[in-house]
Amino acid sequence: MSKILDGKIVSAAIKDAVSKEVETLKNNGIGVGLAVILVGDNPASKIYVANKKKACEAVGIKSFQYLLDESTTQDELIELIHSLNSKKDVNGILCQLPLPHHIDEQAVIAAISPDKDVDAFNNLNVGKILIGNYDFLPCTPAGIIEILDYYGIEIEGKNCVVIGRSNIVGKPMAVLLMHRNGTVTICHSKTRNLADVTKNADILVSAVGKAGFLTEDMVKEGAVVIDVGMNREGGKLCGDVCFDEVSKIAGYITPVPGGVGPMTISMLLKNTLTAAKRQNGR
Ligand code: NAP
Repeated sequence: MSKILDGKIVSAAIKDAVSKEVETLKNNGIGVGLAVILVGDNPASKIYVANKKKACEAVGIKSFQYLLDESTTQDELIELIHSLNSKKDVNGILCQLPLPHHIDEQAVIAAISPDKDVDAFNNLNVGKILIGNYDFLPCTPAGIIEILDYYGIEIEGKNCVVIGRSNIVGKPMAVLLMHRNGTVTICHSKTRNLADVTKNADILVSAVGKAGFLTEDMVKEGAVVIDVGMNREGGKLCGDVCFDEVSKIAGYITPVPGGVGPMTISMLLKNTLTAAKRQNGR
């Protein structure tokens, strides 16, 4: 039976450290603030935005919410971002994705000042991450590295397989594992004989978004299995991994819920703190 990698424990430790630093900054007259923009009323996005507000408040970060109508134009959204870029009490800016179809996501991400881009999606930050000289790391992959470190799981020299190549999870995950000297393979929907590749993984990250995708026959005995998937099945949250069967053979496994999910928010808080420190010369 696998050891559970508990994201709630790791996330609590990070939030605690962030909260202490936020308090110290406050005692030095420096507030920390995060602006979160939501366009439209996607129910999942509304929950994420509400959770981010709650998490900010819990660690003493001021949360500014901008809940915009679905009909908001791209120009109006970019105008709001430009005004937030120049606000001193806003250290981080996050625009909840996905955006309505009439808005070009890349144009919106590009409008966020790289210094306030706490999601690390802006082209400049993506480039910095690739060369390994970065200010912010994208929250979900960075949170996964934190989990591995917390549980003392060595990455160097390991065969790491990432299933999924999105800009927000798969690609940066692969880059971070490579920076930590993992030998990385990226798989996607066109990969042939996927199970042959995944069976070689010492560390296997599934970021596909399909419930029941990763089965026992795709996993090497003793492997570390990280389940990024957040899928709804009959209203219930589940990952990509068939937990009951895979947990019998994996060495370590993240559950859903309670694995990668809590890490994403705590890394957002950490990035917001980093932004505030950098903007105040700390
Ligand atoms: P995405 O943009 O839809 O990417 C999914 C990836 O899976 C794509 O690269 C796709 O390949 C690949 N894929 C699809 N079917 C496949 C198959 N049969 N075999 C191999 N690869 C396949 O999704 P995402 O934004 O990266 O998110 C992935 C999952 O993580 C979702 O469930 C999302 O909700 C979740 N997520 C969780 C968190 C968290 O905090 N826990 C954060 C972000 C995302 P192609 O590129 O070839 O299409």
